[in-house]
Amino acid sequence: MPSAGPGSPPDGVSDRAGALTDTRGRSVSYLRLSVTDRCNLRCLYCDSRMRQWLTHDEVLRYEEFLDLMGLGQKLGIGKVRLTGGEPFARRGFMEFVEAARLRFPDLDLRLTSNATLIAPFAPRLAAAGVARVNISLDTLDPATFARVTGQDLYAEVRRGIDACLAAGIGVKLNAVAMRGVNDGELAGFLGLARALPIDVRFIEYMPMGGSEWKPEQVWRAADILAEARTLAELTPIARGAGGPDGAQVQGGPDDSGPAQMFAIQGGRGRFGLITPLSNHFCGSCNRLRITSGGVLRTCLFSDRVYRLRGALRHPKLGLAAVERILRQASRAKPLGFEILAARRAGAGVCATAMSAIGG
Ligand code: SAM
Repeated sequence: MPSAGPGSPPDGVSDRAGALTDTRGRSVSYLRLSVTDRCNLRCLYCDSRMRQWLTHDEVLRYEEFLDLMGLGQKLGIGKVRLTGGEPFARRGFMEFVEAARLRFPDLDLRLTSNATLIAPFAPRLAAAGVARVNISLDTLDPATFARVTGQDLYAEVRRGIDACLAAGIGVKLNAVAMRGVNDGELAGFLGLARALPIDVRFIEYMPMGGSEWKPEQVWRAADILAEARTLAELTPIARGAGGPDGAQVQGGPDDSGPAQMFAIQGGRGRFGLITPLSNHFCGSCNRLRITSGGVLRTCLFSDRVYRLRGALRHPKLGLAAVERILRQASRAKPLGFEILAARRAGAGVCATAMSAIGG
């Protein structure tokens, strides 16, 4: 980042009034809010099995999340993703989404969900301007689904996907790529992306704390792509270029985030890879995460956390203090791939389970 000279904005502030930047020239424009640490699934890669849940008082109230979103907006955050745990497992979540939309009409508001509970809410999500949802689905086989998640809810997820599509919401399916679990299902997933106007994306299995991760379970993106090319004709899509043949995928203008996307010849949807292990995207990372307990994380792989809840609830500190913490934390945002590279062989990065962080 260029050094500050006379007339330059002070540390941590970019030319965009109030925006958050770091020492590497990255600017934060995307906030992920985990509204609950509870989930109705027990996925083997996510570890919500043995955890102690936060108490009611420890979890931020919806009003506090709205205040954080307002602060984020002031600091240049234009995109917020609501996640969990499972967001729909928290009572009043739909009403919270509607309240957020009323308060922030221009916000790019998105969700990540396991879709087991989403179907009845799809029309209200669409009405609240949630144009896209990310849905986690690692397998198209109900028995494998039950093994991975601990619950027999595959049919509910499929209903949830159909309901979102019927409501005009764009769907991105995220599958954690796991050797020995779903590495025989590429043809099925490609078939789904041919048949439906959705993005199907495989995410490399990350060695997160508390998960059952083992190195031999990693199914590398390069191997997935090589196999996928034997099953379908794939054409790389430039980032942000829309759907197959330049068409918009359902849900409006696209951005694929860190995914490398491919058009599938003859397909309505697209195929993609998210490669946190083999090809990191730290250089363009623009995100902050705040957990349901009000803990700020600037990098998924880092254990450095900033506790916001005390300041937020303090009668004399409040949002002004939270803003100072956000600025300081953003400025010191690390490069996750360095943390990943420095870990001991076979060890996890980040002591906290993904179910508490929100993905
Ligand atoms: N319950 C919601 C859901 O299922 O999407 C939101 C929370 S979940 C923690 C968010 C995302 O994190 C999911 O897409 C999940 O697949 C991903 N995830 C969790 N642990 C992971 C790991 N070890 N490696 C890669 N992705 C992981």
